[in-house]
Amino acid sequence: MVKFKLTGSGRLELPCILIGFFGGMLLFAPTALSQQIKIDTTSARAVLKALQNPNLTNDQAMTVAKLEGNQGMIREMHDLGEADTEEQFAYALVAAAHGSPDGDPAEASYLFSAVKTSTPAISALLDQIEAGFETDVRDHIRPYVAKPDSVSVRGFVVAGGDGGGYAFGGQDFYLNIALNDDIVMAKQVMIHEAFHGAQGAVYHEDTEHWAKERTLPADQVRGTFCSNTAELFMDMRNEGTAKFVGSDDILKDAKGPTGQRLYSESVYGKEHLSDSANLLEVSIASLQAPTPVPYRVVYSVDFWGKGVVYSISSAMVSAIVEQDGPAAVGEVIQQPGYEFVLRYTRLKSYGKDRMHPRLRENTVNAAQSLHDGCHIGSPQTSTTSGQKPS
Ligand SMILES: [Zn+2]
Repeated sequence: MVKFKLTGSGRLELPCILIGFFGGMLLFAPTALSQQIKIDTTSARAVLKALQNPNLTNDQAMTVAKLEGNQGMIREMHDLGEADTEEQFAYALVAAAHGSPDGDPAEASYLFSAVKTSTPAISALLDQIEAGFETDVRDHIRPYVAKPDSVSVRGFVVAGGDGGGYAFGGQDFYLNIALNDDIVMAKQVMIHEAFHGAQGAVYHEDTEHWAKERTLPADQVRGTFCSNTAELFMDMRNEGTAKFVGSDDILKDAKGPTGQRLYSESVYGKEHLSDSANLLEVSIASLQAPTPVPYRVVYSVDFWGKGVVYSISSAMVSAIVEQDGPAAVGEVIQQPGYEFVLRYTRLKSYGKDRMHPRLRENTVNAAQSLHDGCHIGSPQTSTTSGQKPS
């Protein structure tokens, strides 16, 4: 079974899930690289080796579980609400290595039996990754970081679990090589996730502060809305820039079915940007409903599955780069997400054609309100108030 999700990083630590299966040996960035990117395949290699041992012991499996990359896999399982302890990881690994029958819940979560079956293909991908992947990844990211020489990120290749690529808001990122069809797809996912690492290196947006120090009930309701919309705009900024830098156009050369499907979906998304802007508007409205929709639900609708809100987010970044050049991305990732939204609305090309669609009233008002301090009664400051849908 191949699952593909795009995950991101944020307050909820929701995974930016791309695709997945990875493996490992320590790949390192040569000291000559000014922008440090290290890719470590130790965890994936250890899982592959363990799965070839029909006498694997629980102690041996626990040693594999404690590797840094596999700790990330377990953390990702926690965020997804699946089997999330070292013991469950080890149990699943032993079960797959021993050839136990399917059906165990932990085994079903970690997908180690599928990894075992695909070992030759996964091992071949790891060989390619270990042959010098960092240079490609670094060169893609470098133009979009303000001070690349000061940015250091670490990538861990894992083999198993859910999600093809993920990050948690820090400088570490993960690629699940088992869910990547081929090296083209692995490269695109790695660039995307590595850019999340770069984001984590340069700026941390505190979206929770909007909900703090508000004592009156009405103000608390307002604070929660402000915090959630700030989170949504932050996720748009993070995913939009990562999607722009790790462009889906790379997948044009993908040979595997998942990579080809994702490329087709990306083309469709670019042709239907107004749908993406509309879903964003519905999301904002749902967050300020009398009974607000929880942000986790909004996030899953916007960014999981076909990831509809990725489309408008990356198109906004693309439009900013059209006018202001690649360095603008480095500026955007060091500012709050709502400033990214407002910057887009101030472009000369804003609203001029279907590739630069207007954002809707609630969306722009919410961003403007955050800019203005997000006080009660402050949202109606946008010049777009009252405009008819276009
Ligand atoms: Zn992402």
